[in-house]
Amino acid sequence: MKVRFDEIPADGLRLTIADEAWFPDHELERRGKVAAAVVLRRDGNRVFVEGSLSATVVLTCDRCLEPFVHELVDDFQVDCEFAESGGFPDGADEHEIDAAEMDTILLDEPAVDLFELLAQQVFLALPTRILCAEECRGLCGGCGIDLNKGKCRCGAKESASPFSVLAGLKDNKK
Ligand SMILES: [Zn+2]
Ligand SMILES: [Zn+2]
Repeated sequence: MKVRFDEIPADGLRLTIADEAWFPDHELERRGKVAAAVVLRRDGNRVFVEGSLSATVVLTCDRCLEPFVHELVDDFQVDCEFAESGGFPDGADEHEIDAAEMDTILLDEPAVDLFELLAQQVFLALPTRILCAEECRGLCGGCGIDLNKGKCRCGAKESASPFSVLAGLKDNKK
């Protein structure tokens, strides 16, 4: 869903996105409906996008590999800039722009692709450490048992990941 710069009135354009096609269903599992709303304001060759989105997603825990439900709620602000000289630098496409640069998106046409923008925001809003619970004990590196559910019988130290080592240290202090 593209919004051309010349479709944005002087006092801004407020949109509630009813079409859920923006959600990256092929990359992320979700439960139920998703919601998104944006406000676009234009200043010459720049468009400032302010928005919010929410979705219930199913993530896989980095430690125990179990799926869990996560409520994703995000407010975002993105500056979109149309550069007449051709947009992206040579050899780079929009997928190679790292997160630090995401606050400004360079466009190669005077139009904002809202669905693409919303899909990007979903990934930016994901937690950096994906854990079913902060205290998740993960899997045993020896026998592979889910330590949240049962006791290890192989006697291996909890060293499946640096995180489970940390979890072990925390336990020792108790
Ligand atoms: Zn877990
Ligand atoms: Zn074990």
